Amino acid sequence: MNDRHVKVEVQLERMKSFGEDAAKAGAVDAEEPVPVSVPVPSSAASLSPDPSGITIAAAAAAGADTPGKPRGKHRGKPGKDAKNICGKHISDLALHGSAVSAHGERHLNRLGYERTLHIKGTGKILQGKLENNGNYATIHASKNIHETRREDGFKVPRKRRPVTVDTSKAKTSLEALKISIRQLKWKEFPLGRRAACEIYWHGVSFHDNENIVSGQVNKFPGMIEMLRKINLSRAVRTMQELFPEEYDFYPRSWILPQEYQQFSTQIRMVKENDATVNPTFIVKPDGGSQGDGIYLIRDPADLKLVVGSQAKQAVVQEYIQKPLLIDKLKFDIRLYVLIKSLEPLEIYIAKEGLTRFCTEPYQEPSQKNLSHVFMHLTNYSLNVHSGNFVHSDSQSTGSKRTLSSVLYRLAAKGVDIKRVWSDIIALVIKTVIAVVPELKVYYQADIPPGKPGPTCFQILGFDILLMKNLKPVLLEVNSNPSMRIEHEQEVAPGVFEYVPSPVDEEVKVGVIRDTLRLMDPGHKKPTISQVRVEHGDEIPMEAESQERGPDETGALPSLCLKQVYPKYTKQFNYLRLVERIAVLFVRFLGVKGNMRLGPTAFRTFIRTCKLSNSNFTMASVDILYIDITRRWSGATPDSREAGMGLQAFVEAFFYLAGRRFKSSSLREQIVSLLELCEAQPPPGAEDRRSLSCSRALPRAVRAQTLCLTNSPAPLRRAASQDYGLHQRVKPRSHRVNVEN
Ligand code: ADP
Repeated sequence: MNDRHVKVEVQLERMKSFGEDAAKAGAVDAEEPVPVSVPVPSSAASLSPDPSGITIAAAAAAGADTPGKPRGKHRGKPGKDAKNICGKHISDLALHGSAVSAHGERHLNRLGYERTLHIKGTGKILQGKLENNGNYATIHASKNIHETRREDGFKVPRKRRPVTVDTSKAKTSLEALKISIRQLKWKEFPLGRRAACEIYWHGVSFHDNENIVSGQVNKFPGMIEMLRKINLSRAVRTMQELFPEEYDFYPRSWILPQEYQQFSTQIRMVKENDATVNPTFIVKPDGGSQGDGIYLIRDPADLKLVVGSQAKQAVVQEYIQKPLLIDKLKFDIRLYVLIKSLEPLEIYIAKEGLTRFCTEPYQEPSQKNLSHVFMHLTNYSLNVHSGNFVHSDSQSTGSKRTLSSVLYRLAAKGVDIKRVWSDIIALVIKTVIAVVPELKVYYQADIPPGKPGPTCFQILGFDILLMKNLKPVLLEVNSNPSMRIEHEQEVAPGVFEYVPSPVDEEVKVGVIRDTLRLMDPGHKKPTISQVRVEHGDEIPMEAESQERGPDETGALPSLCLKQVYPKYTKQFNYLRLVERIAVLFVRFLGVKGNMRLGPTAFRTFIRTCKLSNSNFTMASVDILYIDITRRWSGATPDSREAGMGLQAFVEAFFYLAGRRFKSSSLREQIVSLLELCEAQPPPGAEDRRSLSCSRALPRAVRAQTLCLTNSPAPLRRAASQDYGLHQRVKPRSHRVNVEN
């Protein structure tokens, strides 16, 4: 067994004993000293040689090492954390010889490895909860500390009020959420609450509860829209234009019906060039989930472009023909990713995930087997209906397994799973970077800066396929990954019941509980300067968690979520170019609540950035605006609002950058134009006035505008009025699309 496996087992053991432990931990009376946390590195070894008077006395025979816990980087750098503690924080402590018991990251007392942290030395006083790269250990402070603290005029921390969670809209995640809240000893409001809650858990979208003006909501506005198949494909494609090598983890895709011609032409050319090539494509309806409506084709003529009289919005994508197989079966990975914040961007990845297996042995696609869904599609919701589906209580067998059990198995075969894991982390960060620009536009529209509103976080479900050569490929991202912890089972012929699924529970409760722990309003947010940035190219597989280990009662295991951003800022920050374009875009939107740019605002952008000249007059600017906006209004399925959306603006920006900086590569052109625009002062008062009032287009352009009388209504509105863009964007109605 490797460390990872041992770790999962230890964690399971701990979960089993949780009820008992929680009961014990719950029996805290008012007299009990309030736990105080100080930063302690996860490895005791890094503490013990500390010269400044900190010693660790292991009460248990095990000494400094904790079984099953990879020591990671701390092993190689014994002095680093010790220095942080002694040189920075702890040297400031005046504990005057008092002994405090530290419950380390693995809550060692429960495992029989109690340690005592003797902190000697002089200096000032221990100040509540401190952070050191997020590593915490709980210290039950002795009476002496409290006395000393009072004498020195410091506030003694009180036992905290439980965090309040509104679960009234949690839908299918309710069961796992309830367990999580119970484990944290937080307070659930299943019917909502008149007063504000600190956390709102929504089952579908940001708008499940309206009028939330404080606290934190577990959904971002616009996430559902952004992660629909077409939008995700577009966002990734924009990044592919700028960074083709970095974004080669997403299969080539075409958007239907708009790109049908390009698709069929390209396929025809490929086949003409090499008659032996016969690629397969997978067609996915936009906004579909659970494998619904998906089919494979080998000939563009087989596309079903119309349903009834309506053109079907879909993505057609290159089919990955050689996936990695286990037990001859195709499988995919479901990875849970937390976006903790957009500004600054904070991304966490769950160390444990799920793998979903097909139920029919895989064969490369042929005309004969194209319709075999149990062979080609890994969706649980489809395969559960196959007679071959295996429900298993074990994490490493059956049709749904833990990711760690699969990685363990691959490692046993000699696969470099560190490499695989590091590629997966890179894929996740790059994908998030691709969708953040548009999310920011939605965010400012729904929660304008300066107005009361909640902050947001969200758990996403990444579906990833490993190719035979171990390269991870992004299939899709679910904005509402199923958090069900039970599965449907046929208990008697034709009779289905929901029965508990230990594999789901193990993974999903951990993800929800630890998301809540990270969002705990009492948990001080690490600032950027506190976050350690990794150097070197390869991302370590099992970097130490930078967040606190056990909770303040010592009752919970270490976090199963690992921060990857801003931790790896250095490796990925250069990719955030479109986000800078989005920031500019928002700057010129002018009125809070807007998501689209009117022609006047676009002109203001051009003027402010000094992009027009005798070769590129303001009339040409207007024509450019109309041309791009017209194309995008047809291309966006949900184009109820008129004007230039972010994706259209990005296209215009690319064009302008190409005009202005002809000689360099696209990426360099974009960087140069961004630098030019960012250096300009924000639109002045006069410009702002022009942004918010209607103005007729200049005569030169009116002729162009007149041609639009046959164009779609939204565009006509856009061209003729400088828009009613200034109304606040109404929340869209959301189709309930919870992926199960
Ligand atoms: P849905 O949201 O309907 O589940 P997905 O994009 O996840 O749609 O696709 C469903 C399944 O189809 C995936 O779980 C995977 O097994 C398979 N699949 C999707 N895209 C590809 C692809 N490009 N190559 C190979 N298999 C794919």
